[in-house]
Amino acid sequence: MRILIIADIHANLTALEAVLTHAQGTFDMVWCLGDLVGYGPEPNACVQRIRALDKLVCLSGNHDRAAIGKMDLNTFNPVAATALRWTQMALLSESRDYLNKLPSMQVINGTMIAHGSPRQPYFEYISDTALARKMFGHFTGAICLIGHTHIACVFQQSGNRCHKLIAPTGKSFSINTGRYILNPGAVGQPRDHNPQAAYAILDLSTDSWVQQRVPYNITETQRRMRRYELPETLITRLDLGV
Ligand code: ZN
Repeated sequence: MRILIIADIHANLTALEAVLTHAQGTFDMVWCLGDLVGYGPEPNACVQRIRALDKLVCLSGNHDRAAIGKMDLNTFNPVAATALRWTQMALLSESRDYLNKLPSMQVINGTMIAHGSPRQPYFEYISDTALARKMFGHFTGAICLIGHTHIACVFQQSGNRCHKLIAPTGKSFSINTGRYILNPGAVGQPRDHNPQAAYAILDLSTDSWVQQRVPYNITETQRRMRRYELPETLITRLDLGV
């Protein structure tokens, strides 16, 4: 069973299309870890594109909750809140209804999936080994998939130890030693100084993780963001991958 793992699309349709084209034929189902909207210029088109995917399991992220008025905008930084106010206005009722139905976390055949963390799916950022080590106590299976940090990485628990690893791009990375917290990185707003869209393929039959990066037309996304007068800092960060 090969699963396309995507997270943090953030209304960046150009990046999402590039990922779906690149991944075509390499997966049997899709798990989307939330934050379909927020920051970017195409919230409705991204919701439509995701929900139309075959064999999909989709979570909501903190931006998805805020975009439908179910999370206080004061919990976001000012530019994120500005983009969310625009997203709230732009969202069609069918998009809002879809986002409203999404769970924050789920266990699928023993694999935990959550937007931020299995303890605090909307609020917690697992970016270091100190927190990752604690999070292994909050799920029971071998694997937990998360997004939210916008940084692709692998945390491995082996005995009492927890290691942070970076899986090589485009190569099969074995995940058969210990337990893992896996983050595919962000489709629509990467923050690891690599502006290319990120996703991963999880193969549960071979215990492998393939991290992928895909170039996309960043200028086109930026052009659309300027058309809607979204904050300039959100536009320029896409070039830098921060
Ligand atoms: Zn996000």
